[in-house]
Amino acid sequence: METKKLQLENTYITLPEKLYSKVNPTKIIQPELVVWNEGFASQLGLSEEHWKAEDKVKIFSGNAIPSGATPIAQAYAGHQFGHFTMLGDGRAHLLGELIDPNGSRFDIQLKGSGITPYSRRGDGRATLKSMLREYLISEAMHGLKIPTSRSLAVVKSSEKIWREKQETMAVLTRVASSHLRVGTFEYAKRFAGLEVLEELTKYTLNRHFPNLPDNKFIGHTLLEAVMDKQLELVVNWWRVGFIHGVMNTDNTGIAGETFDYGPCAFMNAYHPETVYSSIDHGGRYAFENQPGIIQWNLSVLAGALLPLIDNEQEKAIEKAQRLLQSFPQLFEIKWRKMMCYKIGITYKDEKDQALIKELLTWMQEKGADFTNTFAYLTYGEAYDAPLFHQEDFQNWKQKLEKRKQQEHNALELANKMKQSNPCFIPRNHLVEQALEQMENGNNRFWNTWIKALQDPYNIKNFNSEIVQPPENGDYGYQTFCGT
Ligand code: AMP
Ligand code: MG
Repeated sequence: METKKLQLENTYITLPEKLYSKVNPTKIIQPELVVWNEGFASQLGLSEEHWKAEDKVKIFSGNAIPSGATPIAQAYAGHQFGHFTMLGDGRAHLLGELIDPNGSRFDIQLKGSGITPYSRRGDGRATLKSMLREYLISEAMHGLKIPTSRSLAVVKSSEKIWREKQETMAVLTRVASSHLRVGTFEYAKRFAGLEVLEELTKYTLNRHFPNLPDNKFIGHTLLEAVMDKQLELVVNWWRVGFIHGVMNTDNTGIAGETFDYGPCAFMNAYHPETVYSSIDHGGRYAFENQPGIIQWNLSVLAGALLPLIDNEQEKAIEKAQRLLQSFPQLFEIKWRKMMCYKIGITYKDEKDQALIKELLTWMQEKGADFTNTFAYLTYGEAYDAPLFHQEDFQNWKQKLEKRKQQEHNALELANKMKQSNPCFIPRNHLVEQALEQMENGNNRFWNTWIKALQDPYNIKNFNSEIVQPPENGDYGYQTFCGT
């Protein structure tokens, strides 16, 4: 049987059963492969030649279980918009773990694959549009060299599901370092007991941070390691103008990958308060709030890990607080280093910070395009726009040029700029255009655009269609969980 080709392990089921439920995906009618990520598949050792077309469709629709696999739905809880809730994989199945040719371990998860014990009132399904959206944006994120879950395949069904209107149903294959999240620890602490929490923590350290020095208090070790990863991630989001949109603790990954692409979007015109999600009325997850929210989510993780941070609760609280209080300063140090690279200098002192703030204030006042302003500074002419000829911007640029005279490694800094400033991002209006066409069976734009998005720091991919923001800006653009 060809289906043997997908060889999976499942270390997660060695953990206590409270942490998951064994459950198979529900079959879908008339599965049809819509997209297949051949480049990624070959990295995973799953390239085209391994598959008979019908086997591929069967496995990645959930209609056949790879031999030896034990599908599970993971249990987790989470703070959604600040409120604690019991959740769990309500429409996802972890088929198992794949070891790629480099020896790295990846979760292979189906999303939209039917109900599980955690579905609550949901139908266990996902729309074709939302799964294609996750595929597109996660692949763009990977192209931007930002840690992320990835997408291997989307398979649609002839079945329809009801959302606001009738929609086509589809299953996404999501690949991630793991699906462990802050909410997994909240669940373990609240519902599974200290022993399970301890086992889960050991498992997590072993899986994601095997090289950390031994410490009697593994909770502290894990908290610190996750904080490091999340700091890096949120600085990267800042660098490219990404707004996750639903940074609930169940969507904050322990491995530090961007994951759970719901109402996320990239900002066009720079404004720190930008929010796209239709359900984020208070702007809790607005662009500028993201570091603060990560810190808040880490404090929830600290709360869950408390008994493993120290034997004495007071000491544990004190240790966790000390760590979490260092977050804003650590963020600022990383942020200003990254921003300095974006304008082609290395951070020296507060004057550099003031220079950056001055630029951001100008961008905000003028509604300057986030991506193209930095691309203009990096590549010049190709990104020229009337805005950049205004006196205030020219004056600022002269200050920057003067500052650059103090630098001695111009070539290296020019390279840093090119690595920090993408030539394009997945613009919201193009995301909509591509998805609409794909829903109508037209993959021409999708195919060429995805290729470019996989290589966004390459100016050779410049093409004004994918570079230019929409003429009227995207004020009023809204994203929906639109699951
Ligand atoms: P998300 O907003 O995708 O992070 O999902 C939050 C929670 O709702 C998770 O527990 C999901 O499994 C669950 N969920 C979302 N959509 C559905 C659905 N259609 N059926 C069952 N559960 C769902
Ligand atoms: Mg989620």
